[in-house]
Amino acid sequence: MPGIANLSVRELRGVGPKLAAKLADYGVHCVEDLLFHLPLRYQDRTRVTPIAAATEGADVVIEGEVRAADVVFGRRRSLVARIQDGSGTLTLRFFHFSAAQKSHLQPGTRLRCFGQVRRGSSGLEMYHPEYQQVQGENTPVAEALTPIYPTTAGIGQNQWRKLCEQALLQLRREPVKELLPPISEVPYELARALQFLHAPPPDASLALLREGRHPAQLRLALEELVAHNLSLHRLREKQQCEGAPPLMPDAKLLSTFLNSLPFAPTRAQSRVLSEIAADLARPYPMLRLVQGDVGSGKTLVAAGAALQAIGNGFQVALMAPTEILAEQHWRTFSQWFEPMGITMEWLSGRSKGSKRASALARMASAEASLIIGTHALFQDEVAFARLGLVIVDEQHRFGVHQRLNLTRKTAPGLGRAHQLVMTATPIPRTLSMVAYADLDCSVIDELPPGRTAVTTVLIDNSRRQEVVARVAAACSEGRQAYWVCTLIEENDTLQAQAAEATAEELRLALPELAIGLVHGRLKPAEKEAVMTAFKAGKLSLLVATTVIEVGVDVPNASLMIVENPERLGLAQLHQLRGRVGRGAQASHCVLLYQTPLSANGKQRLSVLRESSDGFYIAEKDLELRGPGEVLGTRQTGLMEFRIAELPAHDYLLDEVQVISENIRESHPELADPLIQRWTGTGQQFAKV
Ligand code: ADP
Ligand code: MG
Repeated sequence: MPGIANLSVRELRGVGPKLAAKLADYGVHCVEDLLFHLPLRYQDRTRVTPIAAATEGADVVIEGEVRAADVVFGRRRSLVARIQDGSGTLTLRFFHFSAAQKSHLQPGTRLRCFGQVRRGSSGLEMYHPEYQQVQGENTPVAEALTPIYPTTAGIGQNQWRKLCEQALLQLRREPVKELLPPISEVPYELARALQFLHAPPPDASLALLREGRHPAQLRLALEELVAHNLSLHRLREKQQCEGAPPLMPDAKLLSTFLNSLPFAPTRAQSRVLSEIAADLARPYPMLRLVQGDVGSGKTLVAAGAALQAIGNGFQVALMAPTEILAEQHWRTFSQWFEPMGITMEWLSGRSKGSKRASALARMASAEASLIIGTHALFQDEVAFARLGLVIVDEQHRFGVHQRLNLTRKTAPGLGRAHQLVMTATPIPRTLSMVAYADLDCSVIDELPPGRTAVTTVLIDNSRRQEVVARVAAACSEGRQAYWVCTLIEENDTLQAQAAEATAEELRLALPELAIGLVHGRLKPAEKEAVMTAFKAGKLSLLVATTVIEVGVDVPNASLMIVENPERLGLAQLHQLRGRVGRGAQASHCVLLYQTPLSANGKQRLSVLRESSDGFYIAEKDLELRGPGEVLGTRQTGLMEFRIAELPAHDYLLDEVQVISENIRESHPELADPLIQRWTGTGQQFAKV
């Protein structure tokens, strides 16, 4: 029997070449694709709700007689109709309307309306409801919950519904192929799950569906997560096939470097260093994620990896997400590597003119061994002579797609560069199984000795003066402090203005203190000067935007004030807080929040007061905010599932691992069709 995978959408009623082309843009080519175009949510139009029983905020069907319809001239002209059933009255309000529409709403006309109930000036109201004229009282209602499909302009909900209804009819005649291997004890049959989700019966629980807990959803979510996991493994295999230059450990170079440091690596650092060393020696590209809490010493690990590549005559590119962090790395590595005679080069988006040209030339001719910069390092015109290793710091700020782009940058004939990704934002295990199945993981689970815990307090902004006094007291004792200004807008200029205003305020309040200001709008040389002065202790207080979030390292700074912390994610706050607690002094972090703060907001901030464990904080963050935000918006492409939801479906992930492994080992023929079914052509991973 032919399956619906072979049946083109062109065979369906109402699908001409134009619609077929639009559907193709969605990756919908055959009837099976339509079945896997799953609703986002549902409306209940299976029953008529008496007006008196309609509650504010609910989407309901009501039915009644028009009592009056008038054009009202208020602040906005609107067409207002009163509709009444046996139980009560409700106002329909239209801000856009035609003369014809008004004439349809004659008193006495019987209407059935669907819309959201709100409370307006005249009691219960619906704005722009969908409505139809009905004759008797017994006009049939919808037989199933009404699905709302994901769509953009070009294909309307009714079109999707009609198409999917036809697809369901086909599904009753022709089978849909079961692609999960027999080991998975799925309690719900695939065809039944699809049928259910496109047309849930009137008694289906909307609440269960909304929360993604219906067995039909779980059945498909499991399959979808398996498909994603397989596609990440596939991607990785593809990279591995291309090979990479094997880079042999250079014990002498490494020990020269380690001996030059004023400290010995922690056990965790040594372990991760040797994991990386083993990876680099293999003839295929390393893809390793190093997770280490703020201050765990990831830079040293990066340096060890870099030396192994440089010792083998290869170049290393080190990319950081912000100029300021890249500059910090520049300073650290200059100190460490220049005495060893290693040549370095710098490239950022601000490198212009002859400087840029000479940087590019030195990279292309292998004159520079270690190249440090921002994502400007991976623009198309940048070429490396012998790139052996790419190090990406603070990975969560780069998307997966960007990450994949980097490995392409390899000299001809040498295969792909090895890749080391470092993040301080711990990625919860469950999430990493899906989002990072293509990476090996190392964890630096130990802080260098002598770190002090940071005491965190929540103080509301009405006590700002006390906080300012506290800063003054701390600085008069020779301590240094950060004052961090936050703004939601990803807008350098606004952020800079806010920081400037705060710096001005603090300079007035604390004239005796040397106060510096650093933000994203400063020129690199200006930033450098401020950071150097702060590091040297010439400034007591540094007012900054969140540009200092990552990497900045000034051990004598032991007090941090974060303004409006409620605007930031917990992981980001944890990062910020990691700028203090780096020296021997007891350190403090003051979260100076704006009132009123919601219960959830307070709960979130309390997590920071209670814990300094980045992993715990990240789990909480995920719980309170959802994965899209934790990973950063740029990363969400990967996390946009059709039906699976994290963390709601976290508990499926162990089973996902087992099934994925079983497919790879015992049923490899299932992998392609599964990936195809859920991720289309698989192109979505490759395009940026
Ligand atoms: P992060 O993991 O946040 O990037 P860094 O690499 O910036 O951490 O290291 C933080 C600080 O700890 C730096 O000042 C660094 O020199 C220092 N450090 C790193 N490793 C050790 C160690 N093994 N012993 C003592 N200090 C260390
Ligand atoms: Mg770092």
